[in-house]
Amino acid sequence: MTFDLVVVGLGHAGCEAALAAAKLGLSTAAVTLRLDRAAVMSCNPAIGGTAKGHLVKELDALGGQMALSADAAGTHFVTLNASKGPAVQATRVLCDRDAYSAHVQAALLAQPNLTLIQGEVARLEVDESERPRITGVQLVDGRQLKARAVVVTTGTFLQAVLHRGPVRDVGGRLGDAAASALSGALTSLGLELGRFKTGTPARLLARSIDWNRCTRQPSDAMPRPFSSRTDTAGFPQNALLDCFVTHTTAATHQVLRDNLHRSPLFQGHIEGRGPRYCPSVEDKVHRFAHRPRHTVFLEPEGHASPLVYPAGLSTSLPDDVQLEFLRTIPGLEAVEVERFGYAVEYDYCPPTQLLPTLETRRIAGLFFAGQLNGTSGYEEAAVQGLLAGLNAAAQVRGVPGLVLGRHEAHAGVLVDELVTNGVDEPFRMMTSRSEHRLRLREGTATWRLSGHAHRLGLLSDEQLARIRDDEARVNAELARLERNGRLVALRRPGATWDAATSDDPARPVLPAALIEAVEVEARYAPYIVQADTELKRRGQAFDALVVPTAFDFGAIRGLSNEIRERLAKASPRTFGQLRTLRGVTPAAATLVLIHLQRVAPVPRGTGAVENDVDNPAGPGAPDVPGC
Ligand SMILES: Cc1cc2nc3c(=O)[nH]c(=O)nc-3n(C[C@H](O)[C@H](O)[C@H](O)COP(=O)(O)OP(=O)(O)OC[C@H]3O[C@@H](n4cnc5c(N)ncnc54)[C@H](O)[C@@H]3O)c2cc1C
Repeated sequence: MTFDLVVVGLGHAGCEAALAAAKLGLSTAAVTLRLDRAAVMSCNPAIGGTAKGHLVKELDALGGQMALSADAAGTHFVTLNASKGPAVQATRVLCDRDAYSAHVQAALLAQPNLTLIQGEVARLEVDESERPRITGVQLVDGRQLKARAVVVTTGTFLQAVLHRGPVRDVGGRLGDAAASALSGALTSLGLELGRFKTGTPARLLARSIDWNRCTRQPSDAMPRPFSSRTDTAGFPQNALLDCFVTHTTAATHQVLRDNLHRSPLFQGHIEGRGPRYCPSVEDKVHRFAHRPRHTVFLEPEGHASPLVYPAGLSTSLPDDVQLEFLRTIPGLEAVEVERFGYAVEYDYCPPTQLLPTLETRRIAGLFFAGQLNGTSGYEEAAVQGLLAGLNAAAQVRGVPGLVLGRHEAHAGVLVDELVTNGVDEPFRMMTSRSEHRLRLREGTATWRLSGHAHRLGLLSDEQLARIRDDEARVNAELARLERNGRLVALRRPGATWDAATSDDPARPVLPAALIEAVEVEARYAPYIVQADTELKRRGQAFDALVVPTAFDFGAIRGLSNEIRERLAKASPRTFGQLRTLRGVTPAAATLVLIHLQRVAPVPRGTGAVENDVDNPAGPGAPDVPGC
């Protein structure tokens, strides 16, 4: 069989890649281990969150599927950081786990030009005559699929091993096999692989939880759709469910400490590094020993599901220890477990082997996306899948692809960080990784990216015209307010457009979404100008500033543990070296600069410093629902 494009794997990356290429008219095949497991949420049943919500909005603006399916399957919608600035506000949608994958699977089945194939890809076919070029894939059962481009999105499945206490099984996810042949095929083609791990908590039976002992967290009263393409009539489509919050106790921590020696992580059975921002509960208790409690979010897995997902309790301890520590948590005293938590260790491909299009440097026409590139999370995977799918399709069609700049999308920051700096632990996106985060708000994604979507053929002329018209109306109103001197009034804390223009006979009629955009733009404009000036000024001006040998990075408040560790390990000699180190965010560099200026004074006025961590509770403490 011959196709323009073959996608390997139908997780979150593969689904977006396959849909994007097929929408652009390419004959596309998607091969996956089990078709009934396409778009499965391996861990938490939620889409979005800080920075992840931004990625999903950008994906949506580029014609992706994820936000539409989250809206269709959503049972609990929240805007995180609602009391903070719009740059860090983010949408998070808890989904009915089965309904989410069913909705994506329906989109795959309905997509013209897309052939779905169940099977395991064992080898990549490469023409080595000149620059090596992909020509297709071969399945374990011998089937061959010829293709002009291939996108590999194998997630946590390559040479995957599941760990739970002393138990070790081969598998990419509980209930799924591992992919054992492809790793060898990749290394034989000269590609380097590494090893990472991630984990998931137990699934609890809802009927065994004492909800009266937990704090109710209802959905937002007026939820808004994630996708700009979701029909607002009849939204939300499902009855909303409540989430609940509880917390670990001193007794929980005692059980965990007493049993650390039984954890495969602490016994050294797991070699791969895990995600810093989704640590296992045993790791949290060990690393943050001073914290008396950790928050636990109890999230129902769907209307028809008897299960609850306890976010914050990822673990690979033995079953008896899991049950013992769970029962020390308020509300879970009599909890019953349907499935115990586990960790998975898998091969990833260090992403510095990729071009910014996500094509491998070594083999033309071969693209990688998702967890395979060392990232963690559905959203990071999905946006890479879309970009890899678009770029592979563009290459086949002989048209320019899409490389997003750091200034225009968090997705651009994500890819730039991956291919330029690489990863040494599973990478998750955070808004603080972006030096332009004031501009890259969720609310501006459509305006920022619709031009690209239109050029690529993902948005019709009419759709683009509608978006441009909205943008023009907001800009016209901002200009009008400036002319008649009301913009200053609108910038005051708590001011609203309605109040600022109530006695203005010339005020236009604007829909609520555009009024909100006017308010946010008005408030943010001065900060954006200030941040832009600061970026330009900071540039290389301080690069020669010497970092004293005994400089104590640990004493800088607001720096995340991740960055403190990186700085202490690298011991940069100058500020120039420091700001270009892998993982040092622009916000962190500014923070260090201010402290350096105190030690070795230089001209002042580096502008406002934002906290370097997205999590209001501080690094390593996921007090917004996470994994
Ligand atoms: C146990 C566990 C815990 C996790 N915990 C977290 C967490 O705490 N936080 C977080 O953000 N993320 C977590 N994740 C990760 C999250 O599931 C992934 O980030 C996300 O699913 C990655 O999407 P993907 O498309 O890259 O890969 P996946 O969703 O893993 O999909 C890979 C797909 O490739 C297919 N495949 C693999 N090899 C082959 C082959 N050779 N031939 C054909 N098909 C193949 C598989 O069948 C699968 O459909 C966890 C995952 C697991 C398994």
